[in-house]
Amino acid sequence: MCRVFADKGYFAGTGGNIGVRLDETRFAVTPSATDYYTITAVDVAVLRLDTLEQLEGTKPASVEQGLHSRMLNLHPTRLASVHTHQPIASAASLLHEVLPWPPNTDSRLFGEYIGLVPYKPSGTRMLANAFSKALRPNLFAYLMASHGVICASPTLDAATGMIAKIEAAAACYLKNLISTRRGSDDHVVKLALNCLNAACKEDINA
Ligand SMILES: [Zn+2]
Repeated sequence: MCRVFADKGYFAGTGGNIGVRLDETRFAVTPSATDYYTITAVDVAVLRLDTLEQLEGTKPASVEQGLHSRMLNLHPTRLASVHTHQPIASAASLLHEVLPWPPNTDSRLFGEYIGLVPYKPSGTRMLANAFSKALRPNLFAYLMASHGVICASPTLDAATGMIAKIEAAAACYLKNLISTRRGSDDHVVKLALNCLNAACKEDINA
């Protein structure tokens, strides 16, 4: 699944990581700073959900392990927590705003809207603490300000659709922002609007 996300451009380099619930007490998380095209099963870290003690895996767990444990602990019905650096939503994260879903989005599956985690440096306890404060039971997707995205999906397979939905929501939001604020009808604005328009129309339910 890491390779699927990397192929789609959702993981930039070794950035982006996944946590998957194994049972009530343990979750698996991708290893830290590893090329997603070379990961093997023995590299995947298995951690306790409560203490983050590493039980298995030849490599240290992702530095964002604390985000995934918090996400999975708050949302017991969700099996997967995925952090991406997907391009359009990461651009939208520079605005430091929450995002609406496109109309007719299933809020039970995707949450009421896309939440916002205030900016803190990657891989730090400060970021994990900011995430704890931002977490809401009715929100399953969050922009991490000036960084990327984290979302919780019912299964790991379903995460692909959720990430695509977040990318489409961000494209629609940016498109509307640019169309209402632009001062002149220049070539670059047109090009950006064309790209965002195409991404905005992509919907997993289509
Ligand atoms: Zn990141």
